[in-house]
Amino acid sequence: MSQDLYELLGVDRDADADAVKKAYRRLARKYHPDVNPDPDAQERFKEISRAYEVLSDPQKRAAYDRGGDPFGGAAGFGQGAGFSFTDIMDAFFGGASAGGGRGPRSRQRRGQDALIRLEVDLAEAAFGVSRELKVDTAVMCSTCHGEGAAPGTHAVPCETCHGAGEVAHVQRSFLGEIRTLRPCAACRGFGTIIPDPCRECSGDGRVRSRRTLTIKIPAGVDTGTRVQLSGEGEVGPGGGPAGDLYVEIHVAPHDVFTRHGNDLHTTVTLPMTAAALGTTVTLPTLEADVVDGEEPRTDVETSIDLDVRPGTQSGAEQVLRGRGVPGLRGGRGDLVVTVVVETPTRLDPRQEELLRELAAIRDEEKPSGQAQPSGKSVFGRLRDAFNTH
Ligand SMILES: [Zn+2]
Ligand SMILES: [Zn+2]
Repeated sequence: MSQDLYELLGVDRDADADAVKKAYRRLARKYHPDVNPDPDAQERFKEISRAYEVLSDPQKRAAYDRGGDPFGGAAGFGQGAGFSFTDIMDAFFGGASAGGGRGPRSRQRRGQDALIRLEVDLAEAAFGVSRELKVDTAVMCSTCHGEGAAPGTHAVPCETCHGAGEVAHVQRSFLGEIRTLRPCAACRGFGTIIPDPCRECSGDGRVRSRRTLTIKIPAGVDTGTRVQLSGEGEVGPGGGPAGDLYVEIHVAPHDVFTRHGNDLHTTVTLPMTAAALGTTVTLPTLEADVVDGEEPRTDVETSIDLDVRPGTQSGAEQVLRGRGVPGLRGGRGDLVVTVVVETPTRLDPRQEELLRELAAIRDEEKPSGQAQPSGKSVFGRLRDAFNTH
């Protein structure tokens, strides 16, 4: 170390103790490893700490001014680098956290949220339903009412920390005393000790219990929707407030309808003749599932007529507005019906005769069956219409 200690701190040779202190504080703010991650800054901080160690001590400073060895051995060499920036600022220059700490922590803490899965039918998801659920969570211990102490006893102040929940650790250094606060080990930071814990809950203040809850599933939920029940989750330690319970919905597959968002999709199979001549088919509604059994309901439409126009092609889609699933925020999706035209597979002689006659009239006995690029044929156009829907 050849550099002049006064130069290192950036002070005059006749600077007083206060000026030396101020200079060190300014440089510590700039070079302490906690505030400056640069490795060069770390070296620099060790040097200025060493300089301060000498110049802040009247005897060492006098020895240095006379040209002697100011360190008198290596003890305490550059100690400043071993403390955190906050420690130095607090202990040496006075800081907010040097005196009081955070105080004892509460035994009461908020409980955790709980999550359960619930499978519902498509109609239940669409129109809402009330369900009874068995819920297994921590509840408040009724023996100690959450306090954790055996009946007739109470928590007492911790003798180690006198109720503060923290104990001070003092380290001596050239900077003076550096005082840090740590959680009290005797009371784990609570500031109190339960001498006789409740036997029911082992002092935790809560026990596990199975309850039955009635929950209301709103109309319009879908797989993955989470219904929140405030305060129905796990009770916290020490009688702390309960977390929330989340019910995650899983919608079971339906025999007739598949759900795409709020729209329902279904397929209707029609004989070739019906597709050509046009017809009316009766479809079940999703509401029909709700009526199921018990009391008959006249306010609900259990079926709906679908008019199939003459000449309907296989793959054609018909949309029934407002026959889908109600949205969580109002509105209602559509029912999308895809028509599949079935070609007859087994013809008796009379049927075959009629079809051959029809083919002759329509001049379709020898259709060209010409190959076309997809998109040009009737099928292609329908497919395009379907895909861009
Ligand atoms: Zn208890
Ligand atoms: Zn304590």
